[in-house]
Amino acid sequence: MTGIATTSPGPFPLPAGIPIVLSGPSGVGKSTVLRKLLDRYPNRLRLSVSATTRPPRPGERDGVDYHFLTSEEFARRRQAGDFLECCEVFGRGHWYGTLRSEVTTSPGGPKWVILDIDVDGAEKVRTQFPEAPTLFLRPSSLEELERRLRSRGTESEDAIARRLEVASRELARANQYQYQVVNDTVDQAVNDVSRILKQIGIVE
Ligand code: ADP
Ligand code: 5GP
Repeated sequence: MTGIATTSPGPFPLPAGIPIVLSGPSGVGKSTVLRKLLDRYPNRLRLSVSATTRPPRPGERDGVDYHFLTSEEFARRRQAGDFLECCEVFGRGHWYGTLRSEVTTSPGGPKWVILDIDVDGAEKVRTQFPEAPTLFLRPSSLEELERRLRSRGTESEDAIARRLEVASRELARANQYQYQVVNDTVDQAVNDVSRILKQIGIVE
């Protein structure tokens, strides 16, 4: 399913440097879908690498998957105004944030940056960039979301329960987004998001 919800369409084509926001519950497949999209459009799109205080998962690389910061360093950079937005995402002491430096584009590089952030972060970005396109990735069901979270094998039972609880609240706010896409199969979700990127004029 792709659909335009409540807000009117923004400027066409999207001006360079306006961020694109992607949200969706933890485990729905945002990273998986984004990886494929970035492979498809390497000259158009770049991923904003967020900062976080959560520990790296096996295989995650500093500066690639996240900028992994200590709580002290995160707080210092927050105080210095380095973040476009930041939030304590699961209410368990781990902070996540978008660094302003990640959102600026450089000459000759991709003109658009995509942010993988939670629904509170998306709201903060919208107040600063009202024309930012916003996409919400949905699971086909909560049961499927739980299955994916478990299959990833990266979270404790307690963390899975917390993420599912937060997921229900996030799904209830999906109508705040301009576009909603169901991640049923990865290829279909990538194609649906690609169609949206065409609609906003950033890929052919
Ligand atoms: P997120 O970034 O939203 O937290 P991930 O991209 O890490 O989610 O995906 C969570 C798990 O679900 C991973 O194990 C991934 O391989 C799997 N997954 C992602 N998309 C699909 C899909 N369409 N069908 C089945 N499994 C999927
Ligand atoms: P994970 O711990 O699974 O990598 O990410 C958990 C959640 O944090 C996801 O919903 C993701 O969208 C969100 N997130 C990641 N980076 C940021 C960020 O910079 N800001 C905000 N607000 N949320 C983020």
